[in-house]
Formats: sequence, structure tokens, C-alpha cells
Amino acid sequence: MCNDPKVDAYLTKIGQRLIQHLNTRGIDYLWEFHCVNDKAVNAFALPGGFVFINRGAIEAADNEAQLAGVMAHELSHVAMRHGTNQATKAQYAQLGAGILGAAGSIFGSAAGAAAAGAGQLTFGSVLLHNSRSAETQADVMGTQDLYDSGYDPRAMAAFFENLNASAETKGPPEFFSDHPNPDHRIERVESEVRKLGGAPEGAQKDSAEFEAIKREVAALPAPPKGKPTSPGPQPGANVPLNVPKPEAPSADVTPLRYAKASLTYPANWKNYSKKNALLLVPAGGVIDSGNGQGVLAWGLLGGVASARGSDPLRDGTQKLLESLQKENQAMVIDQPSASISINGQAALSSYLHNDSPTGGTEKDWLVTVIGPGGLYYYVFVAPEADHPRFKPAFESIIDSIQFQK
Ligand SMILES: [Zn+2]
Repeated sequence: MCNDPKVDAYLTKIGQRLIQHLNTRGIDYLWEFHCVNDKAVNAFALPGGFVFINRGAIEAADNEAQLAGVMAHELSHVAMRHGTNQATKAQYAQLGAGILGAAGSIFGSAAGAAAAGAGQLTFGSVLLHNSRSAETQADVMGTQDLYDSGYDPRAMAAFFENLNASAETKGPPEFFSDHPNPDHRIERVESEVRKLGGAPEGAQKDSAEFEAIKREVAALPAPPKGKPTSPGPQPGANVPLNVPKPEAPSADVTPLRYAKASLTYPANWKNYSKKNALLLVPAGGVIDSGNGQGVLAWGLLGGVASARGSDPLRDGTQKLLESLQKENQAMVIDQPSASISINGQAALSSYLHNDSPTGGTEKDWLVTVIGPGGLYYYVFVAPEADHPRFKPAFESIIDSIQFQK
């Protein structure tokens, strides 16, 4: 993340302006706008209203209207629920994990890569590739949104023209891998502008603020080296480090409601949960991985993934395990999932090993159970050597889980 409040505030201001004129079909999204410290020209949105704009997209835009055009395109994907559609068709376990990874970043840099605890669930799993027809829909709806918001609607086509031009020298921008170019994309946007009667009177193209923000972005620290989607120590750097251990989980507990469930957790842990994404961390449970990003070494992260099929618990768990392993070269599943019961409800318990960000080995306990709205999953993370000290607290959390009727 850029972690620059000025830039995020500016993106939020444009976003809020566009939202005023966006047809969300009556759904009240919790919109959030964040700048990502990545030079690749890209932007993406998650189901639910989290919109991420790479600094590369801000740098590639010639004016505020072009930046607003990219954002209107992303907002349109959210409003038309392209991400959730896609997710129900495929990748659903991954989507659950992906939302969590992104939510982790939203919580701020400390918990930013908390997803890493579960095995570095990262933006990679978040990016949903849109179909070409979804792209056309987002272009058309976004162009209308630009128009209605008082921006020059021709900016959308102009931005794509920029991308096409730079593709000739630098290769296709990352934007086109997540937003595949439909045939005649620019012509389609231009014909939409004609249908709207051209740019509205006094349509805005640029602002002094845009130029100031562009300078602000240019002065940001360089993105972390290597793949920004892979925080945490490198595989092989498996040497125990001298990391102070968090204090023992307290016996006092704090109640928490999230999604359609509730649980209690040790009162000396911090709660970073949001909507469906669960993130509970003891003080000192997130450590600096050495590249400026926090990584979860002790704590609980969880979420809700959709689950279908004849055996949604077992199939959903399998999908989740597969996606965890795909993201983690070092992750090993120790044993087949075992049946357990949570307050009389069938659940599965699985143990995994991974490299710990503290060095050495990490033990992850994955518990999955079907609840209202899908597969609820809980990943309890601790360095293997310290796992026994946390195990009773982990089990108490599982015992406390209740679902809304
Ligand atoms: Zn798109």
C-alpha cells in the first residue's frame, strides 16, 4: 500500500463523487479507496466495494478525468457484481481467502500482510479476471457515470488509447490481463459518448489537485523489491530469529460478532476484523518481515467462502487447502482433515506446516464448518515451538463459535 493519507483522501473524493451517480441497485456498499504502491498500470475492485488503484495508474493518467474513468470502470464492476458472479462460477474458496488478504491490507501496514500467516494469501488470489463482456459493460456503465458526475466522458477512451500507445513500446499493461481488451473497445466507448450527446457543458477534465497528487505519488518511496504480492521471508531463510514472544492469551475473553457468527477471544488480543474477514492478533503477533510489511506470526484469521456441492464441508475445505498450498511453496498438509464437532455441528480439523516469519516452522490449525452463507474457516497461526502455549486459547475460541439462527 502507498500508505499516503493525502493520496487515499483524493481517491476517496473522486470515488465518492462517482458513487453519487452510480446505480448500485439499492445496495449500500462500504466503499473504500486505496492507493497501491505498485508501478504496474492497474486497478482492481473487490466485491463489497474495496477499490485499489495502483500508483502506476495515477502516473499513467493525463488528467483527473482519465483517473476518474479508470475508477468509474472499477466501480461499475462492483455495482454489476462481476466479481461475485465470477466467484460463484469458479475459484470460490480462493475468493474467500482473497477477500481476507485484501482486507488484511486495508487494516493498515501492521496487519497488512496478516494474510501471510495463513500462508501468504495475497493480492494474486484477489484479482478476478473479468470476461470481455463484463469489460464492455463496465466501460459503458463507467462512461455514463463519468458523464453524470460532470467529467468529460471521452476520458475513458483517452486512457485506453494511452495504454494502447504505451503497450507498443513497453508491452501490454497489467490492466489488460485483469481487464481483457474487448474488440473495438475504444470505438464502443466513443459511440456511448455520442449517444450521451458528447461531453456535457462545462465537463471537467483536469484539476490542480490532480497535478499535485501526481507529484505526491511520484515522490513516494519505491515499491518494495521483488514481487509485492509475496511478503514475508524468502523460502529457505528458515532460521529461528530472536523475535519476542507475545504474552500468554488471557483467560478473560471478549465477545465478537462477525458475518453471521459470534465467538469470544482472549481479552488481551486485538481485533482487526471487518465484515466477513476475521483477524485477531495478540500484541506482538504481527512482526516485521524485513521489507516493511507486517506478517502474522501468532493469531487467528478467518473468513467465509461459498460452499456448494454434495459435501460442501469436505469439498470446500479441500478447495481451501488447495488454494493455500498453491500460494505457499513451503506449506505442507500434515494429515487428512479429521471430523470434529463444534457445539454439535460437524466440522473439519486440519493441521499444516509452513515457514514461520519468526524463522523456523509454523504450525497452522485450520478449522472449517458450514454456517449461514457458506464455509466458515479459521486459521490459527503460531510458531510450532510456541504452539502448545496458545493451543488452549485456540480451542476455546472454536468452542465459543455460534451461528445466528
Ligand atoms: Zn474491467
